[in-house]
Amino acid sequence: MTRRVVLIGHPVAHSLSGAMQQAAFDALGIDAQYELWDRKPIELADTIAELRGDEFLGANVTIPHKERVVPMVDRLTEDAHATGAVNTITREGKKLIGHNTDVPGFKVALDKLVGKQKMPRQAVVLGAGGGARAVVYGLITDGFQRIVVFNRHLHRAEGLVRHFGRSAAHMELRAMPWHESVIESELSKTRVLVNATAIGLTTDDTPVPAELLPPDLLVLDLIYSHTRLLREAQAAGDTVLNGELMLLHQGAAAFTLWTGQPAPLELMQRKLEEARAGGIVSAEGEPTGAAVAE
Ligand code: NDP
Repeated sequence: MTRRVVLIGHPVAHSLSGAMQQAAFDALGIDAQYELWDRKPIELADTIAELRGDEFLGANVTIPHKERVVPMVDRLTEDAHATGAVNTITREGKKLIGHNTDVPGFKVALDKLVGKQKMPRQAVVLGAGGGARAVVYGLITDGFQRIVVFNRHLHRAEGLVRHFGRSAAHMELRAMPWHESVIESELSKTRVLVNATAIGLTTDDTPVPAELLPPDLLVLDLIYSHTRLLREAQAAGDTVLNGELMLLHQGAAAFTLWTGQPAPLELMQRKLEEARAGGIVSAEGEPTGAAVAE
C-alpha cells in the first residue's frame, strides 16, 4: 500500500515542502506520496480525523492552522505543548501525535545567523502566529533574557506572552503595540530581529521601514526568499538570513518522525533550490506577487 503524507493549509497550491519530501521518500525507497490539501478552517476537524486511517504516515500543518490543530490531536510532544502550535503530525495506531519541528528548525537558523559570536540575549520578534510561537520558544530555551513581540493585532501578541508565562518566568517577555516609534526604540536596544509575520510573503512589502533599521543587527526572516526586509537590512549594514535553513530542517525533522530514518539533507536542499528556481511558491516562505501562495 502506498502510504500518504499530507500538507494541510489554506491556501496550498504548489509546495516547496512537497518537492523536498517526495524526493526524500523516493531516494530512500519509501513507498509514500506527499499530497497538498487545501482546507479551510471550518473543514479542519474533519480533515484531521481522516488522518487516523491506516494509509497515513502523518501530515504537515501550515498557515493558518498551526494553533487551531492543537486540540484536535491526541497527544502533544514537549515542543508542541510548550508552543501551543503543531506543524507535524504522526500516527500511532489510531492516535495522532502533534509535534513542532519549527522549533529545532529555527534553532539551526539562529545558530547559523549568530555564527561564531556569543549568543545574544535580546530579541525583537515581529508576528504572533504559529511561526512566532516557535521562534519565541526557541529564544527562551536558548537563554534570551529579553524578548519583545510586536503584532498588528496586539491582543494576539498578548495572548502569546500569557501562553509562555511559566516558561518565561525567569526573563522579560513583553508584547508591545505596533507603532513605528516603539519598534525603532526597541530595535536600538536589541541584537536580533526576527520577522515571523507573513509580510513579504506574497508582495514586496516590508514590516519595518528601512530608516528604522540600525546597523549591526542580526536579522532573520522566516520567509524563504531574499525579502525586501533582508535587502534593506543588508544595505543598513546588518547580517541577514532567510527562512530556507529553517524550512529545510523542520522538514528533515518531520521526515524522520514519519519514517524513522535520517533525512537525506543534501538532496532535500537541492530539491528546494530547484523548486524555487522553477518558480514554485510556498506558504513557508516564497514571495512577490507570484500566482499562488502555498
Ligand atoms: P499565521 O497565520 O499563524 O500568522 C501570521 C502572522 O503574520 C500574524 O502575526 C499576522 O498578524 C501577521 N500578518 C499577516 N499579514 C499581515 C499584514 N498584512 N500586516 C501585518 N501583519 C500581518 O502564520 P505562521 O505564523 O505560520 O507564518 C508566518 C510567516 O512565517 C509566514 O510568512 C510563513 O511563511 C513563515 N514561516 C516560515 C517557516 C520556515 O520554515 N521558514 C516556518 C513557519 C512559518 P495578525 O495576528 O495581526 O493577523
